[in-house]
Amino acid sequence: MRRDLRLNDNRALQAALDSGVPVVPLFIADPTIIAVPNMGAARLHFCYASVRALDERLRAANAGYVVTRRGPAVDVLRDVAAQLGAVRIVANRDYTPLAQRRDGAVQQRLAEAGIRLDFYEDGTLFAPDEILTKSNQTPYQVYGPYARRWFQATPPAPVGAAWPALPPLNTPPDLPTDPLPALAELGFEPPQRLAQQPGEAAAHARLDEWFDLRRNDSVRQYATQRNLPAVAGGTSELSAHLRFGTISPRTLFQAAQDALSRSNSDECTESIQTWLSELAWRDFYAQLLFHQPRLLREPYDRDFADLPWSGEADLFEAWRSGTTGYPIVDAGMRQLNQSHWMHNRVRMITASFLVKDLLIAWQRGYDYFMATLVDGDPASNNGGWQWAASTGGPSAQPWFRIFNPLSQSKKSDPTGDYIRRWIPALRDVPTRFIHTPWQMSERQQAKAHCRIGTDYPAPIVDHEEQRERTLQLYRRAKSG
Ligand SMILES: Cc1cc2nc3c(=O)[nH]c(=O)nc-3n(C[C@H](O)[C@H](O)[C@H](O)COP(=O)(O)OP(=O)(O)OC[C@H]3O[C@@H](n4cnc5c(N)ncnc54)[C@H](O)[C@@H]3O)c2cc1C
Repeated sequence: MRRDLRLNDNRALQAALDSGVPVVPLFIADPTIIAVPNMGAARLHFCYASVRALDERLRAANAGYVVTRRGPAVDVLRDVAAQLGAVRIVANRDYTPLAQRRDGAVQQRLAEAGIRLDFYEDGTLFAPDEILTKSNQTPYQVYGPYARRWFQATPPAPVGAAWPALPPLNTPPDLPTDPLPALAELGFEPPQRLAQQPGEAAAHARLDEWFDLRRNDSVRQYATQRNLPAVAGGTSELSAHLRFGTISPRTLFQAAQDALSRSNSDECTESIQTWLSELAWRDFYAQLLFHQPRLLREPYDRDFADLPWSGEADLFEAWRSGTTGYPIVDAGMRQLNQSHWMHNRVRMITASFLVKDLLIAWQRGYDYFMATLVDGDPASNNGGWQWAASTGGPSAQPWFRIFNPLSQSKKSDPTGDYIRRWIPALRDVPTRFIHTPWQMSERQQAKAHCRIGTDYPAPIVDHEEQRERTLQLYRRAKSG
């Protein structure tokens, strides 16, 4: 079990169950994965807590347990297989470049030891090779046509018994298992606060709440409200569950179809369709990176490979710590640092700001998001950053855009509630200055208990100046 930490609607697990032999769920805490440079405490915590939740659920029902082991994957797999006399291992495929390389090597080394390792397509609604261009069966490069085909294709149904039925594992008793390492032991500070609760039960609870059309206005108004970060629960906040597979995209798709059949307004129907299109974005980015692993560190358009980015440490530090003087950017970064999740609209604004206002390489922002987000996912994170950096990417036209942080701020947080929630120093700032607090006079600052430069920073850069620099940089790169 890896990015599929659930017992229901799990294709590899179902295949194992269908084979009729006893099944041993195994999770490996592999030091090479933990050691990747942008590993983050929130992700590790969510992952391990979800494994523990699985184990506890099985044990509570006297229905087996999860074997957890520490060590390099191939060694552990060989050991466990030898202890059990097992000849077959199944897993769900992980489409990211690092996982592809690792899994291929593990598969080969196990084959040398006479053990078969089979992979199943499970983590996206459609596997990377399933949605291809009609004309020549090649992967799509642009989201629009991809999404059209995605919506036309017949989606796969969930497999096995539905939640909360427990699968009949028949796990042999008393296999040795290592406790999962504590985060502190691995050198990570455990997250203080997490926006999303780990585990399969928490995923289903949130899904039920999300598609409760009678009580949850957010899902009914998602098409318009999903861009307003001040709305609590305005989006599903299921991203970490999708990331770690505590719920499957098939189950989500089916729940959305069921909600569509209960919808009684055009607004609600449009909202659910819009929400489904976000699942399509997720599949799209997964297939993009799968087919072009180089995109992990390189821009789509190679003309932008050598942009002379700024290496100014102070600017990056201001962005990272939410002290740029641009309230919407700072609120977003503080939400990220404190809750390990950030609203999508604010991810777009903060990412654009790093690249287009601070002229810092998008890869640095990508790494920081990976290390901090609870849902940090190579494909979606990479897609989001390349989109924000306008690296000649695959989104709709116009592909080159420079977000204005002020107009974005006014549009996405008109009352300033989101900004005030995350920046206490701006709590008493009147709404007309909440996006531009530096425009307050001395008297107004005193009245708002917010002295610019002391309680809250002045803007570290001038947007208009930086915009010109960015335009020139990109133009020069394009003209060689
Ligand atoms: C710079 C940047 C970095 C990002 N990094 C990540 C990341 O590391 N991991 C991640 O899961 N998402 C990432 N996203 C996409 C998006 O911001 C999150 O998926 C979304 O905010 C999660 O909140 P939610 O579950 O409430 O989403 P909802 O709005 O409820 O959407 C439902 C699901 O659809 C998927 N989804 C939604 N928007 C997108 C999108 N733009 N691209 C791909 N999938 C999407 C997510 O799995 C999400 O849970 C990033 C976006 C940007 C702009």
